[in-house]
Amino acid sequence: MKVPSEPTHVVGICGGAVAGSESARLFAEEGAIAVVFEQNARPYGKIEDGLPRWHDKLRRKEYAKIDENLSTPGVLYVPGTRLGGDVDFAQLTDDLGLSAIILATGAWRDRSLPVPEIDRFIDRGLVYQNAFVHWFNHYEEQGYDGPSIDVPDGAIVVGGGLASIDVVKILNIELYRRELSKRGIEVDAVTLEHAGIEATLAKHSLTPSDLGVRGATLYYRRAMADMPVATAPNPTPAQLEKLRTARVRIMDKVMRKYLVRFEPCCAPVAPMVEEDRLVGLVFRRTEIVEGRVREIEGSDFEVPAPLTVSSIGSLPVPIEGLPTRGDLYEFESVETGALLGVDRVFGLGNVLTGKGNIRDSRINASVVAEGIIENLLGVPDVEQSVDEMSAALHEEFRARARGVMEQALEGAELTPEKAARVLAWVEARWADVGYGGDYRAWIEDHRSDGSGGA
Ligand SMILES: Cc1cc2nc3c(=O)[nH]c(=O)nc-3n(C[C@H](O)[C@H](O)[C@H](O)COP(=O)(O)OP(=O)(O)OC[C@H]3O[C@@H](n4cnc5c(N)ncnc54)[C@H](O)[C@@H]3O)c2cc1C
Repeated sequence: MKVPSEPTHVVGICGGAVAGSESARLFAEEGAIAVVFEQNARPYGKIEDGLPRWHDKLRRKEYAKIDENLSTPGVLYVPGTRLGGDVDFAQLTDDLGLSAIILATGAWRDRSLPVPEIDRFIDRGLVYQNAFVHWFNHYEEQGYDGPSIDVPDGAIVVGGGLASIDVVKILNIELYRRELSKRGIEVDAVTLEHAGIEATLAKHSLTPSDLGVRGATLYYRRAMADMPVATAPNPTPAQLEKLRTARVRIMDKVMRKYLVRFEPCCAPVAPMVEEDRLVGLVFRRTEIVEGRVREIEGSDFEVPAPLTVSSIGSLPVPIEGLPTRGDLYEFESVETGALLGVDRVFGLGNVLTGKGNIRDSRINASVVAEGIIENLLGVPDVEQSVDEMSAALHEEFRARARGVMEQALEGAELTPEKAARVLAWVEARWADVGYGGDYRAWIEDHRSDGSGGA
C-alpha cells in the first residue's frame, strides 16, 4: 500500500467518479488516507454511463483525469463495494471509525413518471432514462450481458431537460441506422451523431419518407422556449427573453439535424394498456399560468407508442442511516454539503444537487455557456470548447472538498492502531474483490472495449 507511514486521518469517500476522485486526491495530498468505496469495477460514473458514448473525446479525457486522481499515493481504491449493500454506513462510522465520510454517490434513481401504477410496465413498453442510456452506451461491447432494448419506430420520450434530448437522439440514431443498414448502408452510431441524420440521408439521396420512418417524439409539459436547455442564474427580464429565443433556436437545430419531433404543452395522465403491456400514453394539454403548469380539463388525447422512455430527472438513491428529506438527502448546510444529524459526513457532486446531469445543475449554471450547450447537443454554431466546462466542474468539486476539509479533519485523528485496523479491513476487502492494490493494473484488466480504460 502506498500510504503515509504514520497516517493520522483516514477518510472514506463513497463513489469514485468526478466528485469522489477529486476529493480523494485532495485529501490524500493533504496527508490523509482516502479510501474510495466504488460500487462498480470501474469508477467513471455518469461519464461512462450517463454521457452518451458519442462524446468519445470528452469521455477519454475525463477517464484520464479520474485515473490520475485515483492513482495518487494515499488514495486506496476499493472497487465492487457498494455503500448500503456490501458495506453499511454504521460499519464505516462505528466499526471503522473513519475520520470523515464524503458522499459522492451521484444521482442514479429515475424520478418516477407521474402516471398511476406506471412502473409495473417497466420493460413492458416502458423504460427509464438511466437504464436506457446505460444500454446504449454498452450494448455493442464484447461480453455485454445486460438487458436488450428493441428500438421501434414511433417511440416517445417524456421529458424536456437536456438528458431527454440525448434520449430522443439515441432513439432516432438507432432507428435510422437500422433502416440504412437494410439498404446496405452501414453507419455506426457515433458517426451518425457527428454527421447528423438529415445530412447522412441527404448524402445517400434519401428522405425519411423513402425509408418509411416516422421517428421519435419528445413530449414536454411546457413550451419549447421554457426548456431548461439554456439557463442563467436569476436572469433579468431582458436576459430571460434572450434565453427563450436561444432555447427555441437550439431545439430547432436539434430537430432538423436529428429529425426528432417535439410536442409542447402536454402532460401524461394515464397509461394505454394492451395485454398488460404499455402501448402508449394519454396526455392532457397544459397551459402556463403565472409560470406554473396547469392542466386543461377535457383536453385529453391518446398517443399510441410501442416504447415510452421516461426522462424526467435522476435523484440520489437513499442509503440506510443517512437522513433524507423528500427525494434528496437532508443537509444541514447546502453550502458545505454537511448532512443533518450525522457528524463529519458531507455530500459532494450530483448527490448534493440531486441532479443526474451536470448540465442541469444549478451550481454549475454560471459555466454552462450557450456555445458549450450547443456543442454538447451536437449542434454547434460556434466552436466553444467543453474543456472549459470540464475544468470548471473539477475545480468546483475540488474547491468544495477544500472547503470542508478543515471541518472534516479537525479533531478526527485516528490512533495508529485504529488506522492500522482500517488498512487491514481494506486489504481484506481487496482480497474479497480480487483487487491487487494497483489501480492502473486493475483498470487495464477492466477495460470496456471501444473507449478503453485510461
Ligand atoms: C463537460 C461535461 C459534460 C457532461 N455532460 C453530462 C451529461 O450530459 N449527462 C450526464 O449524465 N453526465 C454528464 N457529465 C457527467 C458529469 O460529470 C457528472 O454527472 C457529474 O460530474 C457528477 O459526478 P459525480 O461524481 O457527482 O456523480 P457520478 O458521476 O454519478 O458518480 C457517482 C459514483 O458513485 C458510485 N456509487 C453510486 N452509489 C454508490 C454506493 N452506494 N456505493 C458506492 N459507490 C456508489 C457510482 O457508481 C459512480 O461511480 C458531463 C461531464 C462533463 C465534464
